[in-house]
Amino acid sequence: MKIISATRIIDDMGRVVFPNNARKALNLEEDYLIMRIDNKKHLINFSSSGRGKKVPIDESGRIPISPEYMNKLGWETGTEIGLFMQGEEGVLQGNAPSCVICGSNQALLLIKKTHVCEDCIHTGTEASVERWSAVLGDLFQEYKEYCEKAVTFTNTEDVHKARTKGRRLRTLIHFIGIKKDHPLYKCLKEAHDVLGKVRENDVFIEAFDKEAENNKYSELYSKFIQKVEEEREEHRNELKQKLPHIIDDEFSVRWTTFSQDELKDSVVKLDIDTALKQYEKKFDERVFKYKEIKDKKSDKGLDALHSVRKQAKKLRYICSFLNEVQSIDYTRKSKQYKKVQKDYGDIIDLRDWIHETRSLSENIQDDSDDVKKVRKQLNQRLKKLVKQVEL
Ligand SMILES: [Zn+2]
Repeated sequence: MKIISATRIIDDMGRVVFPNNARKALNLEEDYLIMRIDNKKHLINFSSSGRGKKVPIDESGRIPISPEYMNKLGWETGTEIGLFMQGEEGVLQGNAPSCVICGSNQALLLIKKTHVCEDCIHTGTEASVERWSAVLGDLFQEYKEYCEKAVTFTNTEDVHKARTKGRRLRTLIHFIGIKKDHPLYKCLKEAHDVLGKVRENDVFIEAFDKEAENNKYSELYSKFIQKVEEEREEHRNELKQKLPHIIDDEFSVRWTTFSQDELKDSVVKLDIDTALKQYEKKFDERVFKYKEIKDKKSDKGLDALHSVRKQAKKLRYICSFLNEVQSIDYTRKSKQYKKVQKDYGDIIDLRDWIHETRSLSENIQDDSDDVKKVRKQLNQRLKKLVKQVEL
């Protein structure tokens, strides 16, 4: 939208001259425009149509201001007033609008009802792009390090960390406006999936180790673990083969290009409030969908809860990131979504274990009814947790 701002002086016949570009922007069909006084704000609004006083405009672009308005606003011959236009509407006001930061009255933009000049916006943008780039750059470094450590399998936490850092990175660049078919996004997703297979096995083994310790079905749990360990071996091999080729030097070069060129464009275009609202709207929609489902512990119900949780996770990442790079406080929101993520994690885990035990039981030798009993136990636990869900 075109922005015009100019300083005008009221001539001895009570007229001001509208600059050419302002006349053009008004899109006048007739030789008059409409004026309305705003007594509270102490200014005159004008536009090409709507309600108000019809005021003629002559060939030189001069427009008379009615004596009534002049009186009310305390204007007289020689008074300096500001003309400010955005799109097809504008204002005339006594004190010419000026940049809230530097005081300039040149190239002003109206942002959230205050005027800021283009220069200041440019400086501000540079500063915020730098901050965004620094925070994302740190995350990127951590991610790369964990990816390197992950394939050594010395600590299962490395796979977990590589995965969560990657998910965070992917969520954030998507929030900024990077599309899902962008090579960076695609690499992150691909890496996430191979890491995910190992991670799932790790979680399962760790949890079932605990169950084996203090559960009367410990023998069965041990059999499960053995199977999953075999599976994990395959997944680890796959990860070792693939990951270094996904998160490689080319990926790093892409990242550098992104943070040097694309990031700025994206940050300038990004309207944080609107983007955040879209994510929150999606969260609300998912909660609504979950509430609509009658049988909460059915696959459909659990899938819906999983979707709610995934969206909460994204929102938590975004809010805690904004907390770091913006001056507005997003802590409350970030905590709120973290709670959702935490509260329902156990349910999703249980769901996965129930699925896993079903497929595992086909591959192990067990003549007793233990598999059934274990699955029943897990199902009961799941049922209990689902009842506690408050959304
Ligand atoms: Zn300024």
